[in-house]
Amino acid sequence: MKVSVDPLVCEANAVCVGLAPEIFDLNDDDELQILLPDVPPELQDRVRHAVRSCPKAALTLEE
Ligand code: SF4
Repeated sequence: MKVSVDPLVCEANAVCVGLAPEIFDLNDDDELQILLPDVPPELQDRVRHAVRSCPKAALTLEE
């Protein structure tokens, strides 16, 4: 599973960071960083939840 962000859509509200901090982080410029674009199996359920929870629909999953 791969996850990516559209930086033009993301508003850096950190919802995804709160749900899966192993995968998502905000840098000092309030830009979302994907720490592990290839999501490990044990984190995939939480990443799916984070993607569904993004209020801007800025995250994309490839299964
Ligand atoms: S939840 Fe969506 S809008 Fe918020 S930081 Fe994550 S990708 Fe960006």
